[in-house]
Amino acid sequence: MKLTLWTYEGPPHVGAMRVATAMKGLHLVLHAPQGDTYADLLFTMIERRDHRPPVTFTTFRASDLGGDTAGLFKSAAQSAYDRFQPQAMLVGSSCTAELIQDDPGGLAKTMGLDCPVVALDLPSYSRKENFGADETFLALVRALAKPMARTEAITCNLLGATALGFRHRDDVAEITALLAKMGVTVNVCAPLGATPDDLTRMGQAHFNVLLYPETGEGAARYMERAFGQPFTKCVPIGVGATREFIREVAGITGLSADVDETGLRQPWWSASVDSTYLTGKRVFLFGDATHVITAARIAAEEIGFTVVGMGCYNREQARPLRAAAAKHGVEPLISDDYLEVEAAIAAAAPELILGTQMERHIAKRLGIPCAVISAPVHVQDFPARYSPQMGFEGANVIFDTWIHPLVMGLEEHLLTMFREDFEFHDAAGASHHGGKAIARVEDSPAVAALAAAVAASAPATVPVVAPSGEVRWLPDAERELKKIPFFVRGVAKRNTERFAAGKGIADISVDTLYEAKAHYAR
Ligand code: SF4
Repeated sequence: MKLTLWTYEGPPHVGAMRVATAMKGLHLVLHAPQGDTYADLLFTMIERRDHRPPVTFTTFRASDLGGDTAGLFKSAAQSAYDRFQPQAMLVGSSCTAELIQDDPGGLAKTMGLDCPVVALDLPSYSRKENFGADETFLALVRALAKPMARTEAITCNLLGATALGFRHRDDVAEITALLAKMGVTVNVCAPLGATPDDLTRMGQAHFNVLLYPETGEGAARYMERAFGQPFTKCVPIGVGATREFIREVAGITGLSADVDETGLRQPWWSASVDSTYLTGKRVFLFGDATHVITAARIAAEEIGFTVVGMGCYNREQARPLRAAAAKHGVEPLISDDYLEVEAAIAAAAPELILGTQMERHIAKRLGIPCAVISAPVHVQDFPARYSPQMGFEGANVIFDTWIHPLVMGLEEHLLTMFREDFEFHDAAGASHHGGKAIARVEDSPAVAALAAAVAASAPATVPVVAPSGEVRWLPDAERELKKIPFFVRGVAKRNTERFAAGKGIADISVDTLYEAKAHYAR
């Protein structure tokens, strides 16, 4: 058992629903208890789809358990088939149905339905949503795609875009347009927008573009083995990654990598003098591994931030995340426990958090600016406007999104210069956010407690703080500390305490503060 308040991912059958809802002409029959239809709302409310997901639930009740739940499944599957006449059907179990072991796959086979039926194996107690989506898509491709002669013109499949994917809709549009500029046509984009019939002709593409490893890697690897189709390894989020992706596609196809970059504004925006104050800002990243790895590259190489922490919640992609964290010189955090994430953020004292909906809440509590880079997300991150993350327009969108929550350069200067001002004081926050003043991270007792807890269990590479009570700030030193701009004050405070603890100094004076500063500047 594990006490859980927030989960980053749903159960694997939600992943299966994401694949089914992304496609057309496909129907999913889920053996599930009454009440599981709550998952419909993810699609109709958060993603604002204008139709119910193509999912039939058996919705068994407690009174059904003494009877024929297998019969219930068969009649639900039959009526779904009769009503929707799908080109193919998926059948599987939710967590509770897994326990009663009715075997939807075996049952469906005995029914003689006049369409391919794909049985799903979704281990609900050991795996999660992304795994469910990846497995479902792989099972469909394995069942439906056939080896075929290549198309005459150079074509590719786009793999991994699903329903409820963070910006999948616009990423697909952006990458389709980018490939068109290179002379590559999209054969099938799947699962998003594809029918089962479309899947049967995936084998005719020259190669595959793996947009999201979390939800498409199983199928990409299968098609590489079964049809000899290479797949792209670079996810084109960020300018550097997009150019690398273009070179990768050019390498596979022999086409020119010289792509028109009109419309790409991010590099100049980052280079312009107004962005100078962004240099070295401390950023903490958390989310799914793909978005975190790509975001860390943008942060460090394209905007000039310093990555002070990064992690992901999906352990399937832990290996590439660990490799990326090593490049940025930080300890990787692989965890789906948001309390651990919160403690790590508090200990790293970043000036910006790039994360999921959960990190938005954490950021709010700690009084740290935040932008969303990854699912899980709420309704505001399924925007009406065009907002890709991939390609050149994606880079423009990312620059605006990340910079927006930060206090602007001039304002930051004013906040430091006129600390006593009625308007530009430390706790005022960014003026364009209109909210009331917020407590800063270093002032929060909850944060201090969290940071102390992390320090107690932290490996040597995680920043540690002196356990509270070991050192005392003398009034002069405390006043001096307040002269340090608020966005770096947390780090200065922690470093000084660590320095004092290391030297056995119980009372921190102004001198200790400056000695610590000199020590860490070396
Ligand atoms: S079957 Fe799974 S998803 Fe459905 S209510 Fe039970 S625990 Fe939740």
